[in-house]
Amino acid sequence: MVSMLSKMICNARGISPLLGSILGTCVYCGLTTNAGHKFKPTGQFTTYQHIQGGTCVCPECNVMKTSQDYRRSMWAVNNSEYIAFKSNEAKHMLQNPPTPPFVMYFTKTWKKQGWPQLVTRINDSTKYFIVGFDYELVVVDAVKRDEYLEFAQSLMDVGLNKSELLTSNLKHKTYSKLNFDLDIIERLQSMKGDPLWDLCVYATRKDYDK
Ligand SMILES: [Zn+2]
Repeated sequence: MVSMLSKMICNARGISPLLGSILGTCVYCGLTTNAGHKFKPTGQFTTYQHIQGGTCVCPECNVMKTSQDYRRSMWAVNNSEYIAFKSNEAKHMLQNPPTPPFVMYFTKTWKKQGWPQLVTRINDSTKYFIVGFDYELVVVDAVKRDEYLEFAQSLMDVGLNKSELLTSNLKHKTYSKLNFDLDIIERLQSMKGDPLWDLCVYATRKDYDK
């Protein structure tokens, strides 16, 4: 059983990592290696360096670091498969995570290096788990997730846009679309700033095929 993301990726995708020659500790996963690659810090990496310490990049983390796949795509991985998915599949994936242990990553920027935070975040439950959303870690409680997705879908179906869902700043005519229902408006306001709500709104599409 693999309990580290980069190894899980290499296993599931059948990748044989390129070995380096440095003996040290990996800056990403914290594991000791005798086949590490040289680590060159970049501006964006500062935070992670403080989290993990370390002196080199292990062969498996080097695979993730040197590929665009893990930032230019959304993906899920477990011990047997790697699934890359697109925006229109995000809701389905969020509701149907792979068999544990698994790791899942969402992005709306399609370029941020969010995976290092997930290196040791291996989920062993589909009822309560953590996913990456660009640089954010989002705690997913399955019951809440289903409520949020249903609420977001109902609001989008009556014509609210994503910006209104995220900010709860409603356009004038939106109030009438909601029949001035104060319970709904207050519930929407209470969602503002909840990372799980942001992810659920992102995953919801107006034309989602239910
Ligand atoms: Zn590593």
